[in-house]
Amino acid sequence: MICFSVSALEKNPVVKSGTLPPEFLDLAPEDDFAAAGDVSYDLTAALVSGGVLITGMLSVPLTARCGRCLKDISFTLSSGKIHLFLEVPESVEELDAGEELREELLLALPMNPLCSPECAGLCPVCGKDLNKGKCHCDTGSAAGAVSPWSALDDLKL
Ligand SMILES: [Zn+2]
Ligand SMILES: [Zn+2]
Repeated sequence: MICFSVSALEKNPVVKSGTLPPEFLDLAPEDDFAAAGDVSYDLTAALVSGGVLITGMLSVPLTARCGRCLKDISFTLSSGKIHLFLEVPESVEELDAGEELREELLLALPMNPLCSPECAGLCPVCGKDLNKGKCHCDTGSAAGAVSPWSALDDLKL
């Protein structure tokens, strides 16, 4: 819940910052990401014609697995600058923007998190971590550039 008082907004824009427990993200165990700490938010809400405009940013430390070499990685997910417009229903005194803000943050999740943009991945034959050195398998293409996901990269979607 990230609530803004409508009567306060009618007087002045409201600045709100703080933290929420990781449960706010509501990540499922089968998701590829896990929260490693609290969600931080730093937001300004202002009454505009027809509703409320919320600007600011959210961030949370996450852990994930490199999509190429499967190493555990941790990074900070940031929503970037948010511009969220919400309509305010009649006779609502507290506007809860939590769900919409959560979605804004999750939209920033990377499709394919990598430990580094140059990650060499695992050998598809022997499974060796090619970041730690080449193996002796004949993979049929340039060693070091092959990852278990390279076939996916070739798919034209
Ligand atoms: Zn990696
Ligand atoms: Zn190998």
